[in-house]
Amino acid sequence: MSVQDHVDIAVIGGGLVGAALAYGLRRQGQRIALFDEGDSAFRASRGNFGLVCAGGKGGQLDDYAPWALQGVEVWKDFGDRLVAETGIDIELEQNGLPVFCPDPAALAERVAMMERLQRRSGLAFEVHSPAEIDRYMPGVSADVPGAVFCAIDGAANPMLLLRALHASLLTGDAVLRRDARVERLEAVSGGYRLVTAQGVTRCERVVLAAGLGNLGLGQDLGVTLPIKPMRGQILVTERCPPRMKVPSEHVRQTRDGTYLLGGSWEDVGFDTGTTAEVTRAIARRAISYFPFLSTVRLVRSWSALRILAPDNAPIYDEIAPGAFLVTCHSGVSLAAIHAGKVAGWIADGALPAEADPFRLGRFAD
Ligand SMILES: Cc1cc2nc3c(=O)[nH]c(=O)nc-3n(C[C@H](O)[C@H](O)[C@H](O)COP(=O)(O)OP(=O)(O)OC[C@H]3O[C@@H](n4cnc5c(N)ncnc54)[C@H](O)[C@@H]3O)c2cc1C
Repeated sequence: MSVQDHVDIAVIGGGLVGAALAYGLRRQGQRIALFDEGDSAFRASRGNFGLVCAGGKGGQLDDYAPWALQGVEVWKDFGDRLVAETGIDIELEQNGLPVFCPDPAALAERVAMMERLQRRSGLAFEVHSPAEIDRYMPGVSADVPGAVFCAIDGAANPMLLLRALHASLLTGDAVLRRDARVERLEAVSGGYRLVTAQGVTRCERVVLAAGLGNLGLGQDLGVTLPIKPMRGQILVTERCPPRMKVPSEHVRQTRDGTYLLGGSWEDVGFDTGTTAEVTRAIARRAISYFPFLSTVRLVRSWSALRILAPDNAPIYDEIAPGAFLVTCHSGVSLAAIHAGKVAGWIADGALPAEADPFRLGRFAD
């Protein structure tokens, strides 16, 4: 098989993680090729809730709290630049985000966790009553015990974000290979060799950013990764007049007026089905927060698989010389820091001490 391309860095995976890294690497002046398997793969980036959110992150890994906050702090600049470069409005809004708690005990527990995380990261939050929530999410039930509100959080449109990142790669000398599953990844002298059905690419460095596809790619390099799928189902309603000024963790109104309802965490392996039982549970919870939703029609639903490490935090590591692993849940929230700092690390060819808490070694026990 002939060598198709020879690039500095090959990024495997064209979801939000790989595309953000490829975007950042290009800005760093690297000659890159991005490979994406396409519709046959699991693709969390096309099935997520779109929140840009630091609140609550780091519950199981303290260092994740300041990292997630940094990620959200740099989002606006990243988003503005992407929109200016591509002309695609990614619908970013960072006007705050409440996390509802179903009962007073859950609220107390959430506040305690946020206080602990705040000591680590400085993330500001407030506890809001239903009357306060009603100002930005009119129609909230007076029976809701309260919500923890982070003013810096918000949401974007994840499909438009992905489209903008890909569009940015179509200009200039980046190679974007769609429907190009990397069948084999091999270490060779001076770098790596990627084999797809279309041909072979040689690169000096490679980034494994293929979501759950990283499980197989890691094996190619002799590394077993501790990530697993975690299903989430999302319900979509008919379009309604604009009402909500901000998104919440489980209910948000999109720019086009539909409500997205979500929040299931299902440990069901690689099953991407939807179920009536979970649909009912998601709808019931949403209606308990916003009773007016009981008269709004559902029009469709889908499921997608989160890519989860045992502590829900990202993994950044160099798993073989010049082979970088980047994987996370929260690929929307971390898109800006992936395009910035993390792409910079990879362009430099080495992870700094700042990446140490996120290396695979933390799971050694
Ligand atoms: C229900 C749900 C809700 C979520 N809500 C949020 C949220 O509100 N905010 C947030 O920040 N995050 C959220 N997430 C998480 C977010 O969607 C993911 O963190 C993010 O999409 C992961 O992106 P990724 O690029 O790593 O993976 P993916 O989107 O899965 O992309 C992996 C890509 O790699 C490609 N690929 C796989 N194997 C190969 C191969 N061998 N060769 C070439 N290409 C390959 C695939 O084609 C795919 O496009 C949610 C996830 C789910 C499931």
